[in-house]
Amino acid sequence: MSQPNDSSHVILPGATLGVMGGGQLGRMFVHAAQSMGYRTAVLDADAASPAGLVSHEHIRTSYLDEAGLTDLACVSAAITTEFENVPAAALDKLAEARPVAPAGSAVAVCQDRAREKAHFVGCGVACAPHALIETPAQLAAVTDELLPGILKTARMGYDGKGQVRVKTREELAAAWGQLQQVPCVLEKMLPLAYEVSVIVARGRDGQVVHFPLQQNLHRDGILAVTQVPAPNVTEAVSQQAYESAHQIATSLDYVGVLCVEFFVLQDGRIVANEMAPRPHNSGHHTIDACDVSQFELQVRAMTGLPLVEPVLHSPCVMLNLLGDLWFPLVAGEPSLVQREPDWAAVLALSGTHLHLYGKTEARVGRKMGHLTVTGATADAAHATAIKAAAILGIEAF
Ligand code: ATP
Ligand code: MG
Repeated sequence: MSQPNDSSHVILPGATLGVMGGGQLGRMFVHAAQSMGYRTAVLDADAASPAGLVSHEHIRTSYLDEAGLTDLACVSAAITTEFENVPAAALDKLAEARPVAPAGSAVAVCQDRAREKAHFVGCGVACAPHALIETPAQLAAVTDELLPGILKTARMGYDGKGQVRVKTREELAAAWGQLQQVPCVLEKMLPLAYEVSVIVARGRDGQVVHFPLQQNLHRDGILAVTQVPAPNVTEAVSQQAYESAHQIATSLDYVGVLCVEFFVLQDGRIVANEMAPRPHNSGHHTIDACDVSQFELQVRAMTGLPLVEPVLHSPCVMLNLLGDLWFPLVAGEPSLVQREPDWAAVLALSGTHLHLYGKTEARVGRKMGHLTVTGATADAAHATAIKAAAILGIEAF
């Protein structure tokens, strides 16, 4: 190993940055690192992973493979993760040799809904009323207060997977069975007015900066649309969200980019939903609409370079491009024949920025790319985004 595990020095361009995971978040991280002059190494078992395809080096092993982890540590001056469910033990192992940001201990809290909620509460940040269900006794002890609710697996959930909506105790018992009786959190179903998220970056020195808050629309549990500035948000809500996100990052002693998702309730209250220990889908617009992207801030945080308060230079709308768009509806049913969406028509609209992740196979619900639409005003960005959505077959918003 060529460099000591010294987290006090700044790692300058020319060095290699390692990333655990080869998905689209890793790909955009690699793009940002490379444009700043860093080399990159990605660890992901998939030969065709979006980030592996564009990285200088691609180590094709599983996350817990000893030899793979040793290789990654050997070639990298610092290491980050793009995938929330990378085993914390793998990050701890890497940290014996190299600076790792965020740390395995912080990622471990985010990986477990029960620990995550306990962390929110410990920070004085409200979250949904909930109960941990690990045993039949805990299932029986659930109070009616929590129904109707959403039963969520404590670990490994994403994009609404591992979640069942339940109205009655009978449905709850059946849902826990359906989820193989793994540890779960039952959350009370809350009356949402809208959803927002805040992305912060925290440096090794404890400095925290944040992006302007995003408003997010989910469809079928998957992020569909992000708008910035957030159209419905009041100053009081955004200040509370910023303060909560700073507090959550600081009390984890977090280093790197962290996203906190919030629900804003119909009575105006704001509660934390969950957090992601990495750049987030609701921050993809930062590439085209901000003076520094969430991926560049991840590079800066992990290398010890200065963080700056990011500025939104253009109002924008981000549309997620799911694999569904490759199978247009014919008489209400998804077509069986895959077709390429009409990118040329979308790109003829001024202010559209297309990002595709290099995934060859389109599948329903799979994140294939995103489109960021910028405009001189929020209304202009929205109007163009509506046109782009109509061309692509995305429902208006
Ligand atoms: P992600 O892809 O963001 O990791 P996830 O699978 O972890 O998603 P959640 O964020 O827990 O899922 O939930 C997905 C969506 O379901 C939320 O954005 C929200 O729209 C809805 N939802 C989740 N929990 C609740 C709740 N307690 N009350 C009302 N709606 C909820
Ligand atoms: Mg979520």
